[in-house]
Amino acid sequence: MSLRLNIEKILDNAENLNEKLNSFLSIEREYALERADKLEKNFSDKKQTIHGVAIAVKDNICTKFTQTSCGSRILGNYRPQYNATAVEKLLDAGAIIVGKTNMDEFAMGSSNENSAFGSVKNPWDTTRVPGGSSGGSAVAVASGVVRAALGSETGGSVRQPASFCGIVGLKPTYGRISRYGLVAFASSLDQIGIFGQTSKDIAEVLSIIAGRDAHDATTADITVPDYVGELNKDIKNKKIGVPRALFGEGLDEEVRNSVEQAIENYRKLGAEIVEMELPHSKYSLAVYYIISPAEVSSNLARFDGVRYGFRAEGAHTLREMYNLTREEGFGAEVKRRIMLGTYVLSSGYYEAYYAKAQKVRALLKQDFMNAFEKCDAIITPTAPTTAFKIGEKSDDPLAMYLSDVYTASTNLAGIPGISVPCGLSSENLPIGLQLVGKNWSENILLNLANVYENEFPLNAKPQITVDGKL
Ligand code: GLN
Repeated sequence: MSLRLNIEKILDNAENLNEKLNSFLSIEREYALERADKLEKNFSDKKQTIHGVAIAVKDNICTKFTQTSCGSRILGNYRPQYNATAVEKLLDAGAIIVGKTNMDEFAMGSSNENSAFGSVKNPWDTTRVPGGSSGGSAVAVASGVVRAALGSETGGSVRQPASFCGIVGLKPTYGRISRYGLVAFASSLDQIGIFGQTSKDIAEVLSIIAGRDAHDATTADITVPDYVGELNKDIKNKKIGVPRALFGEGLDEEVRNSVEQAIENYRKLGAEIVEMELPHSKYSLAVYYIISPAEVSSNLARFDGVRYGFRAEGAHTLREMYNLTREEGFGAEVKRRIMLGTYVLSSGYYEAYYAKAQKVRALLKQDFMNAFEKCDAIITPTAPTTAFKIGEKSDDPLAMYLSDVYTASTNLAGIPGISVPCGLSSENLPIGLQLVGKNWSENILLNLANVYENEFPLNAKPQITVDGKL
């Protein structure tokens, strides 16, 4: 099939499924077909390792050929002047970006219900959420429209939706992938992450977008390993740590059983299972919900109706224009975070909340460093539950925040984590296991994930996919 026809089919799939799933905020038919034609003419370029591969990109990652809304009214159809480095690198490698995906507003949320443009539906059960905040990218992959998609992670926004949608999701080490062009939520935690139908899809994309970038001083000049080449390495004698004390309160029984089974499966594959502890992990959400809103209150100050996107009508003074624009432009969750952040940074409270949280963050990180003296990776559930019903937690922010109880600590520590499907619940909903590793150990995580997928595949598919099978 010609590249053009292939991309046309993918665009048709994206459009047809979008009516049911709402995973794309924009589908770039004209742009993608034009690019397909151009690529077809230059087929000889050997550097293009993903020549003609369709990829979806979360709508908080800048693309100069189309909108970057962050799922927010305040940006609306704002169009950036430049491509994010990750996007630029994918294009150089021959990718075709077919659309921008739906998300919780400014990546704040765990269900996609905070999008200003409507919820995304889970293709396994459309009465349920896909997880968030990168739910649109997760669904674009899970429903089979694309093999891989970019998302973003601040506290679990790639791994948790990957788990809810039965696919693989990676949050890399802080500094592995450039954040240039990723709209800031909480800069000390944010990373671009990757969804794939398999770990191999992720390994391929990561090989392309990882590495030092002159535009992002927090990227590291550390060799990018051969992620694809290491996927099938023997995992015998790899040590996997189990912090069993965390498998307690709030953990769904079926999720627990499934992850316990996965631990047994790893043992059968030759890995050594070691019991260990992460004593400060119980504070991770408390710390996360102080540090991330603090950074939000600063990062989101730039959206004032002057520089980007939406400006409210009817204001008589400059201050009124700022106020009205932010009042009408931001949704409830974003406002909640801005207020929380402003509060924890305010004089008199800074020491008690923000400074204290930073100290606990250091302890959390130290826990992981100690743990990695004894093991190569740590296994936990990705999320405490399977996909919940749309509306079930939307009025209860604290219940929603618990979705990230197993993931937020890794963002705080800066280390990488991956979610891999490991089973189905009695309601036929996917369950994910999480593997966490030390800095720059994405190769080990992908290897462990790939071996698991091959030996213990999910053998089930969502109700709604492009052709009923993947
Ligand atoms: N669910 C978390 C939050 O609402 C994490 C979001 C994310 O990783 N972007 O902040």
